[in-house]
Amino acid sequence: MRQSGQSRRLLIGAAIGGGLLIALIFFWIGYAARPPPDTSGLQALADRYRALGRRERGFTGQSVRAAVRRDEIGRHLSSLASRPHIAGTPGHRATAEYFRDVLSGLPGFEVFTRNYSVPVGMTVGQGESLFTIVYSNGTVVESQRQEKELVKLNLTDQVPPILSFTPSGNVSGPVVFANYGRERDFEYLQQLNVTLSGAIALMRYGGVGRGKKLVNAAAYGCIGGIVYSDPADGWAVPGRLDDVYPNSWWLPPTGVQRGSAKMRQADPQTPAYPSLPFAYRDEFDEIKQQTDPPVFSPIPGYPVGYGDAMKLLGVLEGANISSYVKGGLPIDYRAGGSFAPGVDHARLVVNNRILEGVNAVNVFAEMKGDLEPDRYVLLGNHRDAWGAGAVDATSGSAVLLEIARMLGQFYSDGWRPRRSILLCSWDVEEQGITGSWEWVEDRLPQIREKVVAYINIDIAVRGNYSIRTNADPLLQEAALQALKNLPAQDGGTMFEEFKRRWLDQDYRLSVPIGSSDYSAFIQTAAVPIIDASYVADPKYSSYYPLYHSMYETLPVMESIIDPGLRAHGEVAIWGVEMLRLLSETWLLPYDEAALIANIRNRFNSATPPSQWGWPASAAKYDKYVNDTWKEFDSALTALEAESARLGSAVQQLQERIDAGSEDIDPMSVRGFNDRRMRVMQTLADPGALLRDKTLRNLVFSSQTEETEISAGFPGLQDLLAVAKKRSNETEIWKQIAQHVSALVFRMHSLRYQLQDSGL
Ligand SMILES: [Zn+2]
Repeated sequence: MRQSGQSRRLLIGAAIGGGLLIALIFFWIGYAARPPPDTSGLQALADRYRALGRRERGFTGQSVRAAVRRDEIGRHLSSLASRPHIAGTPGHRATAEYFRDVLSGLPGFEVFTRNYSVPVGMTVGQGESLFTIVYSNGTVVESQRQEKELVKLNLTDQVPPILSFTPSGNVSGPVVFANYGRERDFEYLQQLNVTLSGAIALMRYGGVGRGKKLVNAAAYGCIGGIVYSDPADGWAVPGRLDDVYPNSWWLPPTGVQRGSAKMRQADPQTPAYPSLPFAYRDEFDEIKQQTDPPVFSPIPGYPVGYGDAMKLLGVLEGANISSYVKGGLPIDYRAGGSFAPGVDHARLVVNNRILEGVNAVNVFAEMKGDLEPDRYVLLGNHRDAWGAGAVDATSGSAVLLEIARMLGQFYSDGWRPRRSILLCSWDVEEQGITGSWEWVEDRLPQIREKVVAYINIDIAVRGNYSIRTNADPLLQEAALQALKNLPAQDGGTMFEEFKRRWLDQDYRLSVPIGSSDYSAFIQTAAVPIIDASYVADPKYSSYYPLYHSMYETLPVMESIIDPGLRAHGEVAIWGVEMLRLLSETWLLPYDEAALIANIRNRFNSATPPSQWGWPASAAKYDKYVNDTWKEFDSALTALEAESARLGSAVQQLQERIDAGSEDIDPMSVRGFNDRRMRVMQTLADPGALLRDKTLRNLVFSSQTEETEISAGFPGLQDLLAVAKKRSNETEIWKQIAQHVSALVFRMHSLRYQLQDSGL
């Protein structure tokens, strides 16, 4: 066997060698006989580029509106929201298949997946977490273990209330009411001489994140945390607590907001690296030890409805703090620390676990661009949901599938985008933005090289008042331009409608730096992002009341929030136009001047170094920073001048394009676009946030510390917040000096990027 194998290989080798020789001879003959260089081919190529370059508006706003099919959106919504689909459940696995099937059937798309192996937080069993009020006479009052099914829905695999990634525990003691669980709320209780050590903290949602509430409680000596949704925070209408689901969209007393209490986004075992099979993973025991900053809460936490919270509040004694709390429950809010007569203690039992190795399946559908296939416009949504998730984020999942269908239809009609379009169905978002983040970590160099913009549609519809787009400053104008290009349902443009809706409020867009799948794109990759949602009138609710509860169901969406799925259609239309705009326009529609203005505003509203409270021990850094701060100002002035030059260059080029000028070099246009694509990336810095090395955007990252300052630069605010607590540590002042220096350097770096040539 061995012998004959060898001789066969020899024969094959000889055949290949002979073939190559013949090919070489033919190639040489061809070479010798070729005509003198003819530039007509190059000319033809250049003509083609020019023609393609100028071809825009492959389809119009009217045709987008005519193409949208709300029945298709409804079909996807009812399929996907028919059962809970949080990561790690059978309902969840089925959604990836559903997406693959639907997208594979569409013309123009190639479908593929990228998988990561990640941990998710789950309960142990069903309904084994709860709190109890234990009376001296032996009576025990238990909290509900699951929401009551107020409408029969036959939902299987329901997720019990959980603050995922908090430790299990069985603790008992007095209960204190710590309002939002902010540091200042605990300080307030301390001022009232309430004993926090050994107590269970009852807190309301809002103010700071779930994990931060628990970490704060632990820092003040509390042994457990219970979190609920107070009606006053927009979850229900105080004084009208009978007007709730299923008759309206307001949260009933049994509704519970679940959620992740993890404090670092993505897989905490592989910070800054993708969770691929060979990835080195930090052990959970090690991660749990990290306290500066913490990743996990050290104490058990549990979410309850306001009905259960009232039971607890009803047995608390201590100071009446109702005027401090301004809550919405018909009860006196008391500081606690002791119980009403007859009550012995309260007990909190949490049975949580971490399920490792869950397959996070990101499903992608790619439509290749015909002129610049290596430049990408991305649009993404997450597929997982805490319950049926009709709002978060299945409304967006259904819209993404309709956007794909519409693009497929335009493709069939002959349309091709200039740049490639990549639709992304992310997985494991609810457990701390995991699927998208891991992919960004996996493909970081390629994303920085190729991505023009990332458009996020998480919750497509959470109200029926108006579309609301937010974006980083580079893309805010483009997000509005898409609305200007689209006719409104009842005449005029969608932009006119948008302006009317936000007339009495400031309709300027904000920069999304919260937590959804855009986070890794802006905070780590530093590529431009847009986020959109159809929202409720902020006069009534700043979010939506049934958020992450079991009542986020299809009937509520179809009969109360968005009858006829009108708002869903509006978001789909905007999404298609946004993709067309970013994938088709010859010059990328970025607004550098807005970016620079945003940075200037941050600088102008930041507290100057003289007021930072430098201790004498850090005097040498104080002096240094005062000089650097002046340099910061002049660096910004130089940047503004450069930005103005770029602005007029863009305008001149656009005018030549609009005038049909024949002598525009497509290569130089491409170079111009490339340079502008990387403007945001000059803000990426390894020292952007002292507290979290995975966040790299110096200007647009979320803060990790709780501060009262809302303007300024996130890394600097974080450091100043730490310095406030640990003022005598010289090291922290040194880091502040280093950070200010990095900020100034990046302003110069940004200016170099705006310049037209040279190194
Ligand atoms: Zn979501």
